[in-house]
Amino acid sequence: LSESFIVDYISPNVKQFMGYEMDEVIGKSVFEFLDPEDLDVFQVLLEETKDFFSQNQFLEFKLRHKNGEYRVFNSNGKVILDKDGKRLYTGIARDISKLKEAQRELLKAKEKAEQASLIKSQFLSVMSHEIRTPMNAVIGLAHFLLEDDPKPDQLENLKTLQFSAESLMALINDILDYNKIDSGKVELEEMPFDLKNFIQRIVHSHSFQATEKSLYVISEIDEALPKSILADSVRLGQIVNNLVSNAIKFTEKGGVKIILKSEGIDIEGKAIVKFRFEDTGIGIPEEKVSTIFEAFTQASSETTRKYGGTGLGLAIVKRLVELYQGDITYSPNLGGGSVFEFVIHLKPFEERANNGSAEDKPQIKSLMGASILVAEDNMVNQILIQKFLKKWNTGNVVVASDGQEALEFFEKEHFDLILLDLQMPIYDGFTVAKKIRSMADPVKSKVPMLALTATSLHEVKEQLLEVGVNDYVAKPFTPENLYEKLLKFLRPKERV
Ligand code: ADP
Repeated sequence: LSESFIVDYISPNVKQFMGYEMDEVIGKSVFEFLDPEDLDVFQVLLEETKDFFSQNQFLEFKLRHKNGEYRVFNSNGKVILDKDGKRLYTGIARDISKLKEAQRELLKAKEKAEQASLIKSQFLSVMSHEIRTPMNAVIGLAHFLLEDDPKPDQLENLKTLQFSAESLMALINDILDYNKIDSGKVELEEMPFDLKNFIQRIVHSHSFQATEKSLYVISEIDEALPKSILADSVRLGQIVNNLVSNAIKFTEKGGVKIILKSEGIDIEGKAIVKFRFEDTGIGIPEEKVSTIFEAFTQASSETTRKYGGTGLGLAIVKRLVELYQGDITYSPNLGGGSVFEFVIHLKPFEERANNGSAEDKPQIKSLMGASILVAEDNMVNQILIQKFLKKWNTGNVVVASDGQEALEFFEKEHFDLILLDLQMPIYDGFTVAKKIRSMADPVKSKVPMLALTATSLHEVKEQLLEVGVNDYVAKPFTPENLYEKLLKFLRPKERV
């Protein structure tokens, strides 16, 4: 290997790859064919690295084809000494231009797909806010009119209005939720709850539909299971709710059985729980079973006409079960109907022996006299919130339409709590919260703040914690939910 890299031998194949005859290459320096950029890099490397070739068995570089095009090669070779002690580089080179091209295309396709997926979720997140805000008003006002002593002939219409609005909202939530789960944005939370109670509440919430169709809905919960567990009751509730509501929907005779069985304890001390949902309904034809867990698919095209639905329920359930490292399966029920099953591991919750703490005691409370600042720019929401607060006999309620006004009002007067919309003009809710938490007056800086938001908690939770917001109420809020949260944060004052 003279340091000028003269080619001593080359395979006749060179014609196939580079267009040259053997003797057009032999006797010339490799450098003549090397891509100028590669040549620069190569020369620097050769100078800087002692014994470059023994350290770099595999090389990748571009060589000029006889037609002027550059092609990518990789080589595998080493330096040997011939009988005269001359250094020779011997190795093989492969044309990987096609491979490189394919890799580039693949990367481009991947970037494009990622971009599209990003745009999709951004679009959905914007739409979620845009759709939920007016829906909030529709649902809220329907609620309010219903509680406002409607005339009997209006009652039916109002109920239909409320039902339709709530179904539409559920559908929007499903679509958004699926998107969120699908893009890996869902994190499971942990909160303690009573397993038996949890199942019974869900069963109870479906009792209306079940009774209407004369179906039984029963639950069997293994006594060996821990009484309380630490899990995401919202997500677990979504799983159970979806399966139970499907079971009722697709069953005309008989009923639904929910079975929770203990399968022991894993090495981390978690309870291994088998969830089983049996129904005596129409079942699912064998050839459809593989598709029912996909988004937007139903077992038959008749389904939508006859039963409604979007085909999102099971897709969401499947992914949520997977978040718990479980796998949901379908099997036919003996004697007709469906069985859905999955096994997940749930952390038991050890209750501390502090019975009788103030939190546990049922307390009848009212919001009587509490002064509340409502920072909310949407007029319909302003009216709604004011109506509810008035009904609950709160004291002074002041409404600010933007972040700046909220701060001005807050400086002037004392408030027991702030309801804070996150999207507001001038200062958004986050900025207002931050400014309040850094106020010099300790009474002011510690005021409880509840965020009102149409975006899901998962997306803003971190930010909310950072700026010191105590809790949040999802829009569209139900009166019960708002009431409960208000009580939670007004409570300490009452105990003093
Ligand atoms: P949806 O209920 O909105 O149609 P799902 O994803 O929840 O969507 O279910 C997908 C399909 O699976 C349903 O349309 C139905 O055909 C079938 N399916 C789900 N659960 C059952 C069940 N318990 N019995 C019979 N068919 C079911």
